[in-house]
Order: sequence, then C-alpha cells, then structure tokens
Amino acid sequence: MRAYRMTSSGAAGTMALPVPDPAAGEVRLAVLAAGLCHSDLHVVDRGGLGWQLPFTFGHEICGRVDAVGPGVREELIGTQVVVHAPVGCGRCPRCVRGRTNYCDHRASLPAAGIGLGVDGGMADTVTVDESRLVPADGLDPSTAAALTDAGLTSYHAVTSCADALVEPGAVAVVIGVGGLGHMAVAILRACTDARIVAVDTRAEALELARSCGAHAVAGPDAAATVAELSQGRGADVVLDFVAAQSTLDVAVPLLRTAGELVLVGGAGGMIPVGKPGPLPSGMVLRLPFWGSREELVATVDLARSGVLTARTTTFPLSEAERAFAELRRGAIVGRAVLVP
Ligand code: NAD
Ligand code: ZN
Ligand code: ZN
Repeated sequence: MRAYRMTSSGAAGTMALPVPDPAAGEVRLAVLAAGLCHSDLHVVDRGGLGWQLPFTFGHEICGRVDAVGPGVREELIGTQVVVHAPVGCGRCPRCVRGRTNYCDHRASLPAAGIGLGVDGGMADTVTVDESRLVPADGLDPSTAAALTDAGLTSYHAVTSCADALVEPGAVAVVIGVGGLGHMAVAILRACTDARIVAVDTRAEALELARSCGAHAVAGPDAAATVAELSQGRGADVVLDFVAAQSTLDVAVPLLRTAGELVLVGGAGGMIPVGKPGPLPSGMVLRLPFWGSREELVATVDLARSGVLTARTTTFPLSEAERAFAELRRGAIVGRAVLVP
C-alpha cells in the first residue's frame, strides 16, 4: 500500500509498505479521508518533534473497518468510524479517565498521537486500537476526518474558556481562520452567546469566517473592531490559532481586564509573564492540547446535529506532496484532506 511518511532521516515522502494486519484488540481501517494539519508542517520543519521515526503522517482519520484482530467484534467490519488519536501511557490517572491528551507522561512518550510518531492515516490502510474508534456512519468522510483534530481541538479550546463568555455582550476573538479556526468560529456560535470577531491576513479566510457565523472580521489590526463590538471593554477571550510573535503581539492588547488568552497555535511566539508587567490583571492563560475521547463524541454529535461542519479541499493521496506545499503557501481555505 502507499503511505506518506516521515523517514528515519527526517524527510517526508510517499513509500510502499505492506498492508498491516490488526493485532489483538485492533482493527484495520480502509482509510476514507485523512486531514492535513498545520502541525504536520511544524513536524516536517523540525525534523520530527523527538518522536520515534519513521512513521506515516495523518492524525485526522476517517475510515471503514475492513478487518478485525483477535478479540474484536466482527460486527464492526464495514462500519464507518473516526479515530481518537492522542497517545498516552494508558496507565496514569489522566489516561484512565480518557484524557490521554493530558497524560502525565506526555513529555517522555515516543509519540504524541497516531500519525505523530506512530503510523497514521495518510495511507491506504491503518491499524488502530478498537478503543480509539468513534462511530461516524453517514457523515461525509472528509468532514468527519477534520472533526478529530481541527474540530476536537477547537471544541476543547472553546469549552475550556466558555465560562468567561457568559456575561451579556461578551466578545471572543479568533485569530487565524484556517483548518482549526473556522471550526472554532462555528463552535463558538453553537456553544456560546459571544459576539465573535475573526482575524486573518487572507480575505478568503475572513469570508469563510463570516459563513461560519463570525459577527465581525478584521485584518491583523483588529483593535478598532474589537473596541467597537465590546463597547470599549476589550475581548473576554482571545483564541490564537497561530501564536506566532506577530499574533501574540496583537492578541494581548485586545484582552479585557481578567480576560482569557487561549494559545492553540504552535508557531513559537512567546509572551513575558510577570508582575508588575504588561498583561491585564486577572488574566487567564490557557494552553489547550487536542481533546478527550468524550469530547470527540460531543464534537461528532455537533456535526450530526448540523451546527458544525468543515470546509474541506480534497487531494488524492498520491498528491500528498502538493497538498503540503499548498498548505505551506497559504492556498488552502478550511482543511486540506487526502483521499486514498
Ligand atoms: P492553517 O494553516 O490551516 O491556518 C492558519 C491560519 O492562520 C490561516 O488562515 C492563515 O492565513 C492565518 N494566519 C497566519 N498568520 C497570520 C497572522 N499573522 N495574523 C492572522 N492570521 C494569520 O493551520 P491549522 O491547521 O488550523 O493549525 C493552526 C495552528 O494550530 C498550527 O500552529 C498548529 O500546529 C496548531 N495546532 C495546535 C493543536 C493543539 O492541540 N494545541 C492542534 C492542532 C493544531
Ligand atoms: Zn493537528
Ligand atoms: Zn498517561
């Protein structure tokens, strides 16, 4: 089968691999769609993030079960599923409660997720543990794949700060309306009463934000828009889906007193924290990572109820290289998804 991989020398490319057999407790999925995340670009640029190499990319997976290993119910064969992909140790209190995204041993694990240190879904097939499966029958496979990270991470990030958005007239700012950000706008709209300002450098991303329910859109100098919508108070929450130095420099001054800054992006910007200092008093800083299996079920439910969808652009798996290049040059609107 074909697989788009990070090789042991840290390069990315398509290779031929044997079709894997599911081990005990595992299923094999015929991949229907695998999302391409900006994190995959960070991984390529940083030659892996200290995980074991080689591995196949693809941490957003929708597939159809085509074989089951020993101990797994045969009735699963033929069902369409998505994969909860974060990797944890499986034994610590967080993992036992299904919060593998916050495993106590995260820093020392050889992988962060399926497709991030362990073979993922940018391939014709992939084997995963049955416990990772969430039913996704009836959903468009590309949308379903995007739910597992772009959707799940946004759901977790938004719900973690939702209590800061209950005051009447509360304002939430979403910086970076890409694969994650556009779903965050839709989730804010579905799960809170906040007024939403979407910020991006690309006109087509701002158009997408409008169609997902943003009340206002702005370029990087969003201060006037946020001031107007918040009647001069500032934003109750700023979610930064880029978190480069340039966006952090924009994000902090937008915050209201006791506002929350939620850093989702991994572009490497830094903010100095200390007292006295430039940050608003009472400010809360959050660094959410991915989401729990339970939250993935809730995210899939939002999609089934019709309030959450993903804007996707599909590429054949054989054109993985081109998809990575298009994401890198900012030519993707919404989520790029590879289809075997
Ligand atoms: P993406 O490339 O699809 O979207 C990024 C968006 O940001 C684009 O629309 C781009 O135009 C916009 N942008 C870039 N620079 C900007 C600037 N200076 N001002 C305003 N907008 C700007 O990326 P994605 O797949 O949505 O991922 C976003 C980030 O989130 C990445 O850094 C990724 O690694 C990270 N991420 C984090 C988690 C987590 O669990 N914390 C999970 C997934 C992805
Ligand atoms: Zn990702
Ligand atoms: Zn653990």
